[in-house]
Amino acid sequence: MSLLASLGWNDALEDAFASHRAAGLIPGRVSLEHNHVYRVLTGEREWLAEAAGRIKYQATGRHELPAVGDWVALRLDVRHERGTIQAILPRRTWFSRKAAGRGTEEQVIAANVDGVFIVFGLDAPIKERAIERYLALARRSRVRPVVVLNKADLADTGPAVAAVIAVAGGAAVHAVSAATGAGVDELEGYLQPGATLALLGPSGAGKSSLVNRLIGENVLATRAVREWDARGRHASVHRQMLVRPGGGIIIDTPGMRELRLWDGEEGVGETFEEITALSAGCRFRDCRHDVEPGCAVKAAVQIGQITEERYQGYLKLGREHAATEKLRDERALLDAKRQTKVQHKALKAMQKSRDR
Ligand code: GDP
Ligand code: ZN
Repeated sequence: MSLLASLGWNDALEDAFASHRAAGLIPGRVSLEHNHVYRVLTGEREWLAEAAGRIKYQATGRHELPAVGDWVALRLDVRHERGTIQAILPRRTWFSRKAAGRGTEEQVIAANVDGVFIVFGLDAPIKERAIERYLALARRSRVRPVVVLNKADLADTGPAVAAVIAVAGGAAVHAVSAATGAGVDELEGYLQPGATLALLGPSGAGKSSLVNRLIGENVLATRAVREWDARGRHASVHRQMLVRPGGGIIIDTPGMRELRLWDGEEGVGETFEEITALSAGCRFRDCRHDVEPGCAVKAAVQIGQITEERYQGYLKLGREHAATEKLRDERALLDAKRQTKVQHKALKAMQKSRDR
């Protein structure tokens, strides 16, 4: 397997890269973003790179800037040990969040992910609702979810695994211990050569410990890189995409740890499969199973076929959607306004030059 293939490169990507190849550009994968400087792996080595001005000026939002996991076309300046990112290849999958500060902007925090380990610790009571939300998030991103119940050394895993399987909607559930290594080999099965897995889950669940366990003992030593921070100080930052010696790529970004829902009607449908199935029996086709009369879902809650808790979890997710839908609409409106402004400016400039 070529070095590039071990990063996930394949024939489809090579096809998509044809015009860049002809232009003398080199394919690479973004492993870290820090203060608008990127680290890009080309297989042979890692390059520091910046986005070309054209990418920055043409971007209609932050989602069009490079992100960790992106495949990019690099122009290398070997003499200055630098690269410029000339293009981003279309993303197969991605996780995004609302960019901090600017209300409605989407920021991609991990791209081209095949699967996600949703990690929770067994040292605390199982939070089924939180797990459901992460599952929905993965599914709407078209990424295969795998639930990992860590710290199996501290608890009786049987009941917890059963409780999670009940809400997992068919996703695999594994009980492991990053501390002892028990069960970790089950996770290695997902890390096939070229496969990209991301980590998601609350802080303290053991994600860092799990990465160390999966990548090998020396990961902490090899994981940190030195970067210049905004004030020109030398800061130590962690690589956010790691290539596992035994195969597979692991993405562990701080952004993944603070993910909120962006959209995902489908994601909800899949996680609450039994509710989706029941809704065929509702009187109204667009029933939201809330206050509508003749609702088959509420009827199922009344007879205990669906628990009140699970029903509330479904409603909560739906409400959050409505809120993000609204944000997205607002963003679309802003984009349209900006376009009009640009067109207006261009028109004015044209009139001016004509008047002269
Ligand atoms: P993260 O915030 O998800 O990255 O969690 P960390 O990897 O930093 O782990 C949080 C705490 O849990 C640390 O004190 C770890 O030593 C501990 N921890 C992680 N995995 C295990 C485990 O499998 N068993 C036990 N007993 N402790 C663990
Ligand atoms: Zn209904």
